[in-house]
Amino acid sequence: MGRNDSAFWLPRRCLREPIPEIADAQALLDEAANAHLSGKRARAAALIAAANIPIIRDWTESIWGRHNASVLRIRKVPDAPPIQPVALRPIPRHPNALLKRRLIGRDGYHCRFCGIPVIDSSIRVLLRTEYPDALCWGTKNFDQHAAFQCMWLQYDHVLPNGRGGESTFENMVVTCAPCNFGRMERTLEEVGLLAPQPPTPSPSKWDGLARLNRRVKGLESETN
Ligand SMILES: [Zn+2]
Repeated sequence: MGRNDSAFWLPRRCLREPIPEIADAQALLDEAANAHLSGKRARAAALIAAANIPIIRDWTESIWGRHNASVLRIRKVPDAPPIQPVALRPIPRHPNALLKRRLIGRDGYHCRFCGIPVIDSSIRVLLRTEYPDALCWGTKNFDQHAAFQCMWLQYDHVLPNGRGGESTFENMVVTCAPCNFGRMERTLEEVGLLAPQPPTPSPSKWDGLARLNRRVKGLESETN
């Protein structure tokens, strides 16, 4: 579909529909977490490495950064709220820990736009400490594990902070990194997005691998 087709500009639920390989990576990482928790370290490392699926990186790259203009469809909206100088933007810029917990409680570990499973960066850091060879995470996009990059949990402002959006329960949603960093400071209308989708019905089977954090905390309290 080209830019001259009227359907091209119709509002959508997400910038690009997820590809099946993301669910494949989710299943591999879920199994990796189980292997890690049962002490099967070689298996956990192999599963984490297997989840680094190149086509997932292609999906992400089509949405953010240089992106694909037929995926991230940017338009001018005459009456859109203007971009505000940094000094005038609502503070705090980021949600505090309590608000993050409330957002996770409402949204679970799924992107409110595209619906893909997400993983908090603390889990990535934990697993990278354990399996540095399997979980690559360099400073450049292409040096980062494709699944952990794509599934990187974000707290996203529906009305961007740079357009006057506040860090509140009502204005924030859990999203994936491509949905957050693809849209950046643009309004939903400027990229042709519908309002965020309803949260995935709870309880979702996907815990964002948060059980690994609880396990670590549990072990710490047992030894202290
Ligand atoms: Zn998303």
